[in-house]
Amino acid sequence: MHRKPRAGRVFFPAMSTIFEKIIAGEIPSTIVHADERVTAFRDISPQAPVHVLIVPNKPIPTVNDVTDDDERTLGHMFIVARDIARKEGIADDGFRIIINCNQHGGQVVYHLHMHLLGGRALGPMLAGGKHG
Ligand code: 5GP
Repeated sequence: MHRKPRAGRVFFPAMSTIFEKIIAGEIPSTIVHADERVTAFRDISPQAPVHVLIVPNKPIPTVNDVTDDDERTLGHMFIVARDIARKEGIADDGFRIIINCNQHGGQVVYHLHMHLLGGRALGPMLAGGKHG
């Protein structure tokens, strides 16, 4: 069984992404936090001095796929983000959290994840100013 979301991508729910392999320890990564709900690891292509991906262990493809049952896990991702920001020493200066969704959001890996970015002034929220 598969479904076709609006962006035109076909998802096969049983197909695992690279993040599932990282969570399972099948692919190496620099893990900074792991518990029963969430795994966090450094992005392979960091866009800032601190760039950590915070990922639910459950493979939710996109924000569009979030259900009421995920509320606790999604809230926990913010607690983990707060703690990592403190540990990385970026809490006081500030940081940015980004969640991309589907094609227009620029999502590349279809396993929902939070980018935690900091360690320098990150500039305007989006490149290109008002509507690009
Ligand atoms: P997206 O564009 O989907 O929001 O972000 C995907 C992120 O995953 C990108 O920032 C990319 O650099 C990161 N990424 C892709 N493959 C790997 C990998 O194998 N290991 C790690 N640590 N990060 C990855």
